[in-house]
Amino acid sequence: MSIAENAAAVCERIDAAARAAGREPAEITLVAASKMNSADRVAQAVAAGIRVCGENRVQELLEKRAQGAYRGARLHFIGQLQKNKVRQLVGVCDLIQSVDSGVLLELIDARARALGLRQDVLIEINIGDEPSKSGLSADGLPAFLETAARYSAVAVRGLMAIPPISYASGETRAHFARMYQLFIDNSVKKYDNVSMDFLSMGMSGDFEDAIAEGSNLVRVGSAIFGARAYPRKADVNPPG
Ligand SMILES: *Cc1c(COP(=O)(O)O)cnc(C)c1O
Repeated sequence: MSIAENAAAVCERIDAAARAAGREPAEITLVAASKMNSADRVAQAVAAGIRVCGENRVQELLEKRAQGAYRGARLHFIGQLQKNKVRQLVGVCDLIQSVDSGVLLELIDARARALGLRQDVLIEINIGDEPSKSGLSADGLPAFLETAARYSAVAVRGLMAIPPISYASGETRAHFARMYQLFIDNSVKKYDNVSMDFLSMGMSGDFEDAIAEGSNLVRVGSAIFGARAYPRKADVNPPG
């Protein structure tokens, strides 16, 4: 299957999942998670109608952007964000999905101010409370949004989550449902510079469940581009 065929199939599945949930397919935005795919393959996806690309690594994003990979599409940053990379990202991405600390807010605000723009971001939530993972704890969100209200060059547009890997059916859905509740609870309260427009959850293996639970931004990689070819140890370190 070509990238175009895969992308069309994913769009159909998104539409079906939205209708099954009694929602409008147009409410759901597909982000093609294009990490480890060449600029040429990303450009193929955009030519096939992909409107938003998401990248995980700043260096890879900048290189592929310079090669014209995302021309005609919007660009999101979806990976773990390091403080020293903020400078290179602000103003380059339409949405930074993975803000999880006050320090990042402050740095993004300062950079956006220097450039005379306003940067859209999502707050990443560690919904499974996994010690190894990035993301803010759900309990900390209200206080965090109060902090965010002080940074007028940062526009908080919603929440993002990557739930724990789970092999028991229903567990991931329960995490998605908790995220939706958090999204709704914090939509009701009014904070300056905060609007709960986007709930980013769902990947290749679970985007239909995420849509059923209220996601309106899904990040899909392998179902569009095929399995990623991670280097095997044997390739990195040949025996002998
Ligand atoms: C890679 C990635 C995805 C997409 O994962 P697939 O399982 O390939 O669909 C989604 N979100 C983030 C943050 C990613 O890093």
